[in-house]
This record gives sequence, C-alpha cells and structure tokens, in this order.
Amino acid sequence: MADITNLRDAFLDEIRDIYHAEKQLLKALPKLAKAASDGELREALENHLAETENQVSRLEQVFELVGEKPETKTCAGMAGIIEEGSDALGEDASPVLDAMIIAAAQRAEHYEIAAYGTVATWAEGLGYTDAAELLRETLDEEKTADETLTGLAEAGINAAAGGSAPTAGRARAAGRS
Ligand code: FE
Ligand code: FE
Ligand code: ZN
Repeated sequence: MADITNLRDAFLDEIRDIYHAEKQLLKALPKLAKAASDGELREALENHLAETENQVSRLEQVFELVGEKPETKTCAGMAGIIEEGSDALGEDASPVLDAMIIAAAQRAEHYEIAAYGTVATWAEGLGYTDAAELLRETLDEEKTADETLTGLAEAGINAAAGGSAPTAGRARAAGRS
C-alpha cells in the first residue's frame, strides 16, 4: 500500500480488488441459488450470476482500456461477507433460509455498489471515460440486483419466514395473507 502515491494507482488497486470480489461471487452465487427454495429467488440469483460473468469481462475490458493486465488483489471484504453468508447454508431449506440468503446477497451487493461507485467516479476523474461508462453499467446492474432482492423479500419471503409483510396490500398480492 505504501507504493500508492497517486489516484491512478489507487484506482488500479480498487479494480484489482473488485475483480477478485467478482470472481469470489462467481463461486458463491451458485451455492446460494441452489440453497434457495423460492423459485423466484433462485432465478434472481441465477440471473445475477450471468450478469456477474459479464461484469468480470467488463473489468477485463477496463484493465485493457487503461493499459494494464487483469490482475486480482485479495478482497478480504467480500471473502468475509461470503463466509458469513455461508453459515446460513448449513440450515434446512425453508423461507427463513431464503430470508437469510437475501440478507447475505444484499450485503454483497452493497459492497459492490460502494466499490463500483468509487471506481466509476475515479475513472471519470482520471479521464478514462470509456472505462467509467463500463463501470457505471455494472454499478446499475448491482443496484437493480439489490432492488430485486428487496422486492422478493417484501413480496412474500419475509412474511413466509414469519415476519409481518410491510403492507397488507403487498402480502395479499403475494398470496400470503
Ligand atoms: Fe458484481
Ligand atoms: Fe475488497
Ligand atoms: Zn452483484
């Protein structure tokens, strides 16, 4: 870290970190999807796995655009989030497990939203306009993935897990009241 003296170095450091974070998610998302009993949740996680594959390619394009080889740096943050989320996978399939899977996946999405927000802004500031655009595309996908998970939780998974639905209307729409 001592050798980082300018924003470009800091940018590369963060890109390598998120590259490793995405690669960890490529392994973790299928496990979460497999453990989910709600079909829509499983589908959302599988869709996001496909998006994540594309996000990895985008990062490889970003490395190329800034004249660097793709390289990972250990992302301890995502490793910790995945490790905590994996604890839940020892539980039996149930709506409670689904709620826990959503909780774990949303932590991962929020980490990514923070990381991509930073690198997209830095890329812009460094004059890497095309790289910034790619990073913003991924940022938008991460935000949408997060919103989808919130929607699934509120549309019925939380209520099925034993919580009360946020509104009677939504609970009825999901056929759970
Ligand atoms: Fe991602
Ligand atoms: Fe990290
Ligand atoms: Zn994501």
